[in-house]
Amino acid sequence: MPKIAVFAGHGGADYGAVSGSLREKDFNLAISNAVSSLLRGMGYEVINNRTTDTDRNISRDAALANNQNADALVEIHMNSNEGTPGTGSEAFYSVKDTGQGRALAEAILANLEGLGFVNRGARVHLNASGQDTFGILRLTDMPAVLLETAFINNPQDIQRLNIQAVAQAIANAVARVFPVTAPPVTPPQGGNAVIRSIQSTLNSRYGFNLAADGAAGPLTRAALVRGLQTELNRQFGRNLATDGVFGPLTRAATVNVRPGARGNMTYIIQAALFIRGFTDVIPDGVFGPVTERAVRQFQGASGLTADGIAGPNTQNALFRW
Ligand SMILES: [Zn+2]
Repeated sequence: MPKIAVFAGHGGADYGAVSGSLREKDFNLAISNAVSSLLRGMGYEVINNRTTDTDRNISRDAALANNQNADALVEIHMNSNEGTPGTGSEAFYSVKDTGQGRALAEAILANLEGLGFVNRGARVHLNASGQDTFGILRLTDMPAVLLETAFINNPQDIQRLNIQAVAQAIANAVARVFPVTAPPVTPPQGGNAVIRSIQSTLNSRYGFNLAADGAAGPLTRAALVRGLQTELNRQFGRNLATDGVFGPLTRAATVNVRPGARGNMTYIIQAALFIRGFTDVIPDGVFGPVTERAVRQFQGASGLTADGIAGPNTQNALFRW
């Protein structure tokens, strides 16, 4: 997700522009906090230079944005002038900008224009050395905008200035120029797809809560035994504890599962065979020739009679993990 630096100009001992009882730093902070809250709600990561009325330091703030690799930066200010009050919004982007800073500045101004503010335009502002006049633009690396939201000494501008509406206008502009990438529909999946399927099947069939991580760890292996115990109880009226341990009682309660069988017990045996490395057995609950061959091979490797029938001895060897 994009990371946006939302900075409030001035603060603490530095009031910024003042008009009567109005202090620029207070507007900057209120707008900055509202924009930040909106952007977070839209899925952005937001970093701030200040969230309370504290001093700010332009060099430190610029370093913060650079070190945090912010994708974009907006710094909020209020304008002021001498004489007849000016009106409207203007925005500055860096002389280093490659397009996105300007695009963001213009998008913000267009949205503020929609709220009734005069659009005074977006431009660079350079000092005699040809560098950005504003430190936050000069010292940062990412697309950056310094916004002069409105004129603090213009009563009409102040009357028009609804903090929440202005914040929404700025957040919407960020969203247009730096859209949040849609999150993946499914989380990244790891491990083996067949084992993930086994885990999901056990969860839905028996109400387990296995992580479908595709790894046949101890919980997944115990879950197979719990499933087997559950089937023996349901289908054959056994009264086994479904504890996931293939002990003597479970062994005594087993039934022969033969070629041609179908159902959940066959599925569990197939799953155990797959986990034990017989990966041509894809569990489907049907005891066919591939499963029978795997049972014979497993029996042979375990020193059992290779008859292809999953009886008590075979199941004991299969589920004694
Ligand atoms: Zn200012």
